[in-house]
Amino acid sequence: MSKLEITIVGAGIFGLWQAFELARRGHAVTLREAMPEAESGGSSRFAGAMLAPYCEAEAAPEVVKQLGLEGLALWRSAFGHVTQKGSLVVAAARDATELRRFARMTEGHRGVDQAEIGELEPDLAGRFGSALFFPTEAHVSTRHALAALREALRRLGANLVFGEPVADPVWMAAPAGGVVIDCRGIAARDDLETLRGVRGEMAVVRAGDVHLSRPVRLLHPRFPLYIVPWGADTYMIGATVIEREDFGAVTLRSALDLLGTAYAVHPAFGEAEILELSAGVRPAFPDNVPRIVVKGRRLMVNGAYRHGYLMAPALARIAADLLETGVRHPEIVIDG
Ligand SMILES: Cc1cc2nc3c(=O)[nH]c(=O)nc-3n(C[C@H](O)[C@H](O)[C@H](O)COP(=O)(O)OP(=O)(O)OC[C@H]3O[C@@H](n4cnc5c(N)ncnc54)[C@H](O)[C@@H]3O)c2cc1C
Repeated sequence: MSKLEITIVGAGIFGLWQAFELARRGHAVTLREAMPEAESGGSSRFAGAMLAPYCEAEAAPEVVKQLGLEGLALWRSAFGHVTQKGSLVVAAARDATELRRFARMTEGHRGVDQAEIGELEPDLAGRFGSALFFPTEAHVSTRHALAALREALRRLGANLVFGEPVADPVWMAAPAGGVVIDCRGIAARDDLETLRGVRGEMAVVRAGDVHLSRPVRLLHPRFPLYIVPWGADTYMIGATVIEREDFGAVTLRSALDLLGTAYAVHPAFGEAEILELSAGVRPAFPDNVPRIVVKGRRLMVNGAYRHGYLMAPALARIAADLLETGVRHPEIVIDG
């Protein structure tokens, strides 16, 4: 296959993985990002970065689970920087029905009792009577993974341009004999009629007295939330799912829900320092399934919804196969 000239617009998790997959296949990649490098990444900066295909299948269609399983495998085999310790799903005793419902809706888990919860996460010993453990799930450290992908791209010889918004990616000229891949996330909504924004709020805290080694999800009938260890005593607490394209500051109600979740999982979070309260806007199509929209020599890769980290490697593989061989994933690749 001859080498393609490829311009990718947007250095969020979708754009970075598109660039990484194509660069490691030997294509000439230029990645163009609107923001300065330190502030780049759009909604990808705020993700928990859980790679949890089974847990997410509770509310996601089968195709998302399949893309997620492939994505998880590719993170491990092609990139690394993955913490593979599984996910732990807990609920207060009064919410035991939530745990049973979650177990029915998902696979890839086993029930664990109070003693095993304490073996997995000593800080949670005696706090929950039963839980679900998903041993094959993983997570990455969000901002470290974004930086590591950028460095990997530089090592592969890609050209990275930061701090210059592309004025109109849908109409920008493709490089001679090449292709433009538009990965602008929610910024592409004017060119993708059905794309919508779904707000997600999160907190980052430093809690030196708490030691959790894997994502812990607390089931609750009203606000199921989770805690992800980000390393160096910091934890990401996420995330609200609000059907609104709103980039504004985190509301008091959401802050109470997020911080209250951490406190319910372990009261030592009460002494944590709040480092950050932020909101991102997830790009989503009506069915919450991502798409690769083909417009001549332009591809628009979008609609990551809650699963951008999980699915990015699979979407990058599908786009690269499409460009190299013309093979079209029947559910993901559509003409625009
Ligand atoms: C709070 C929260 C928690 C989440 N947790 C998880 C999780 O645990 N696991 C998971 O898999 N997913 C999670 N997600 C979802 C995930 O973050 C999104 O699906 C993902 O970030 C979408 O990535 P993207 O690359 O499509 O868009 P973005 O990350 O928004 O990136 C788009 C990029 O394009 C750039 N851009 C825009 N316009 C232009 C232009 N004109 N020229 C050049 N560049 C441009 C932007 O600056 C940005 O860098 C979470 C999301 C949120 C908000």
